[in-house]
Amino acid sequence: MRISYLECTRCGEHLPADRPENVCSKDGGVLFARYDLARLKGKLRTDDLRGRVASMWRYAEALPDATPVTLGEGFTPMLPSREFANVYIKDEGLNPTGSFKARGMSAAVTMARHYGVKKLAAPSAGNAGGALAAYAAAAGIEAYIFMPKDVPIANRMECDYYGAHVTLVDGLISDCGRMVAERKEKEAWFDVSTLKEPFRVEGKKTMGYEVAEQLGWKLPDAIIYPTGGGVGMIGMWKAFEEMEQLGWIGEERAGSASYSSKRSDSKRPKMITVQAAGCSPIVKAWEAGKSTSEMWADASTFAAGLRVPKAYGDYLILDILKKSGGTAVSATDEEILSATRHWASVEGIFAAPEGAASLVAYQKLRGSGFLRAEDTVVLFNTGSAYKYLDMVEAQEKKTRAVVPAVRNIGGIIGPY
Ligand SMILES: [Zn+2]
Repeated sequence: MRISYLECTRCGEHLPADRPENVCSKDGGVLFARYDLARLKGKLRTDDLRGRVASMWRYAEALPDATPVTLGEGFTPMLPSREFANVYIKDEGLNPTGSFKARGMSAAVTMARHYGVKKLAAPSAGNAGGALAAYAAAAGIEAYIFMPKDVPIANRMECDYYGAHVTLVDGLISDCGRMVAERKEKEAWFDVSTLKEPFRVEGKKTMGYEVAEQLGWKLPDAIIYPTGGGVGMIGMWKAFEEMEQLGWIGEERAGSASYSSKRSDSKRPKMITVQAAGCSPIVKAWEAGKSTSEMWADASTFAAGLRVPKAYGDYLILDILKKSGGTAVSATDEEILSATRHWASVEGIFAAPEGAASLVAYQKLRGSGFLRAEDTVVLFNTGSAYKYLDMVEAQEKKTRAVVPAVRNIGGIIGPY
C-alpha cells in the first residue's frame, strides 16, 4: 500500500487507508491521503517522468497504488495567452467528459473499485455527475446522481447515456446533498460527494503537478481558480506540499540548507478564488476576514458549477487564500458572458462560463494592481462550453434583453 494513512485536516487524527472512509468521525473534517514522499527525495526525479503516460496517472508515486479506472484524464494543455504576456490558460475542457471533474472521479472510482464498493452516490451541480457516471460505467459500478433539474442538458443526457440512476431535484446542489445523506445508509451507497471521501482531491491535485511540470518546474506567481466546491484549489495546495517533500520544487532557494516549514510558503503561487456574483460565499467570507463561509441564499448564476451555496471545505479554501497571499473576486453573469465570447474570439478557446470567470478576475486584479503585467499567472478553464450551450444561449438572450449593445462590450473588456 503506497498510502501511509488518511489524516483529518481538522484534528490530525490518522486512519488506516485499507477500507473506504468518508470524513473524520469526530469532527467531520476532510480526510487527506498521506504518503511517505520524503523517502523518495533524491531518488525519484522529475526526469523520471519522461516517457510516462500522458495522463494524470504519470504521477503514480503520489497517487493510490491501485489499478486506475482511466479514460485518459489529465495532462491537459497549458496554453500561452495570445492576449497577455506571462499568462497561461490551463485548458481542462479537453478532459474526458469535458471538464476537470474527470480527474477527481477517476481517482475516486479507482479506489471504490479497489475497495470492492458496488454503488456510488453523489450530488452534482452538473459536471461531477457526468464524470462520475462515465467512470462508474468504465468500472462496472452503479452510480446514483442527484442534480438540480435545471442543470445543463449535456449533464442530464450524459448521465443517462452512461447508465447512471439520475434524480432531478427542484433545488440546489445543497438540497441534492441532503437527499444523498438521507438515503445512503438504507441504500448501501458509498457517498462520493465533494470532499466527503479522500480521493477526488487526489485526482484534482494532479493539476498542481501539471502546472509545475508544464512550466518547467517553476511555479507561477498566481493561479486563478473558479471555485465552487474548491477541490482543485485544495488539491493543488496539497500537491505543492508534496512536490516540496519530493524536492521537485523550491530548489532555487536551496540557500537555506535545512528543509524548514517557513521556507516554502513564499515560493508557492498566490491562490485566487473567482466566484459568480450571484453565488459568492467564499468572496464574502474572505472580505469579512472570516475562516468559514455562510450558506449563500438564493444562489443564481448560469455558471452552473459555481452554484455552490456553501463549500464543505470552505475552511481549507480560506486558509489557502490567506497562507498564499491570494484573494477572492466575484464576476457578474454579464461579465462572465462577455469574457466567454472574448476568450473564444481572441484565444480560440470556447470556455465553460466558470473558466471564463478567471479572465474577468485577471482583468479586475490587473486593474486594481494586485497582479502586475510581469507576473506569471495561470488561469484555469475548468471545462468546455460545449457542455453549456443551452445555458450560454439563454444567458445571451437574457443579457441582450437587458443591455442591447452587449456584443460590443465583448471587445473592450478591461483592464478595469
Ligand atoms: Zn478530525
